[in-house]
Amino acid sequence: MPRTEPSFRRRLNWLIPGMRAEARALERAGDSGTLRFLLPSPFSPEEKADLVKFYEDRLKQGAEGRRILASITALSPDSCPFCGTAGEPETFEHMFPKAQYPWLSAEPLNLAPCCWPCNVGRKSLTPQTSPNPYFDVWLRKRWLIAKVVDVSSPGVVEYELDAAADLEPHQIALLSKHISDRRLKRRLPVQAATAFADHLGSFRTVQTQFSLSSTRLATYIGSSLSTSADDRARRFGENHWEAVALRCWASAASGIDWVKLLT
Ligand SMILES: [Zn+2]
Repeated sequence: MPRTEPSFRRRLNWLIPGMRAEARALERAGDSGTLRFLLPSPFSPEEKADLVKFYEDRLKQGAEGRRILASITALSPDSCPFCGTAGEPETFEHMFPKAQYPWLSAEPLNLAPCCWPCNVGRKSLTPQTSPNPYFDVWLRKRWLIAKVVDVSSPGVVEYELDAAADLEPHQIALLSKHISDRRLKRRLPVQAATAFADHLGSFRTVQTQFSLSSTRLATYIGSSLSTSADDRARRFGENHWEAVALRCWASAASGIDWVKLLT
């Protein structure tokens, strides 16, 4: 009788110990600060095909898999963890790519829910050069700032890495690459300009009602922007694009001619 190919289910049973071992190695590397030195375990082309199929067929399509993916998405339900774009993240980024690390294809701690532009834009980012939202707890420190380019049109801001941030040189290098590869300097100002127009609309309503003097108007707007910044930072983190933009507008508020902007 000819030997038949073992079923996918049976082949998966053989692969599970390897997947578990690689997941443990990922966790150990993350906890010990050696994530950038994690090497992939060897694999055959057949093993790689089955591991990727497991992610595509079972995790993305199966009922239990979808429940797992939904719980990962729930970690960042309202915005992309990499750029802060509002809305439910649309895709999953394999921080250790399937092609080189197939044993981690379906490992939840290797999957970051994010938006399409971030996932596509990370082409040249590697696990060694990409900040990791699960293990790099130092990402919670404040490291992103924005500056008003011209006080006569304060909606236009420029984002940059805060030179005074309390970070180590290798962390600064990771964030510089993250900002440039995900094109944040180009993408974030677009969102900020829209948000500024919205805030201006609500300040206009207040000014129409109360006709504040220019000094009182600037004080009111400065404090309102500052309160909104704290709210965004609490909800989405210190480096969320809107929290950062609101802080920069709040600190520039006294130098802005709000009466002119609102009329
Ligand atoms: Zn994003």
